[in-house]
Amino acid sequence: MKLLVTGGAGYVGSVCAAHLLEAGHEVVVLDDLSTGHRDAVPAGAGFVQAELGTVAGEVLGGAARDGAAFDGVLHFAARSLVGESVEHPERYWDGNVVASFRLLEAVREHAVPRLVFSSTAATYGEPAEVPITETAPTRPTNPYGATKLAIDHMITSYAAAHGLAATSLRYFNVAGAHVTGGGRLGERHAVETHLIPLVLQVAAGTRESISIYGDDWPTPDGTCVRDYIHVDDLADAHLLALQHATAGRHDVYNLGSGQGFSVREVVEACRAVTGHPIPAAVAPRRAGDPAVLVASSDRAAEGLGWKPSRTELERIVSDAWEFARPR
Ligand code: UDP
Repeated sequence: MKLLVTGGAGYVGSVCAAHLLEAGHEVVVLDDLSTGHRDAVPAGAGFVQAELGTVAGEVLGGAARDGAAFDGVLHFAARSLVGESVEHPERYWDGNVVASFRLLEAVREHAVPRLVFSSTAATYGEPAEVPITETAPTRPTNPYGATKLAIDHMITSYAAAHGLAATSLRYFNVAGAHVTGGGRLGERHAVETHLIPLVLQVAAGTRESISIYGDDWPTPDGTCVRDYIHVDDLADAHLLALQHATAGRHDVYNLGSGQGFSVREVVEACRAVTGHPIPAAVAPRRAGDPAVLVASSDRAAEGLGWKPSRTELERIVSDAWEFARPR
């Protein structure tokens, strides 16, 4: 298939682009490099540096006119910092919702048949029940989650009205790196807020210690529990979503490995993998953190035939370390 990958210079987008190329698809990456990296675009992919909201129509329309229309879009481009979304919601309604609307309009106008959207567990907010299924209430607790949920709703209506074959994949805690095949692709954000890369910065000597945000949560060791999913497993799900997409339907799937690890367990795994003592200190709770977030991925297993295979925490951490260490 010929596929447009928006946000393909970012962490998850670049890894998915690499998997698509490895599977023999033709890939064009569209990214404005506001947070992505040019050198993360895998060799073999075309690259357009531009803002999604302004050029989506041109890119999809140009290809259609040249007789080389796109068979699908994988939409990763987004702003994704929870804290920033609280302080500057306008950036999120514009950068996520308005830009995605322009993309959907271009998809409709140029009759692109398939769309896979990068959604998030943040659409659920504080869960009433764990593991979280796709039928759980969606009550996002921040503008980031609200904008992703709004896009999910937009996609549902486009699928129903315009025959689009659409899939939203709701990621839990994406981690690890793509360290096989050509190039190494992993997480490198200018503003890093995620636990595993921060802990690995301590091991790499660029950060003194890690703060554990609260040890008085109602969990077995008092620290928050999350469902970490290897980015390569996540990429596998995107390829399956493309295969299973059905015209006129919008399917929503949670993607996690179905097991929870505490912050302390993550820090321990990083110590074991890196051999570094990694000093850690308990700090106050971070606003907006739920105690436990674990996915039920039963629907993805049934609907997509997806089964994550890189679920051990040490495997996830060691791939992340493989990527982070040389930097
Ligand atoms: N966390 C922490 N210290 C840090 C960063 C994160 O204790 O420096 C905790 C955070 O409170 C949460 C878990 O690690 O319970 C995962 O946080 P992350 O930001 O990686 O992902 P989130 O679950 O917020 O999407």
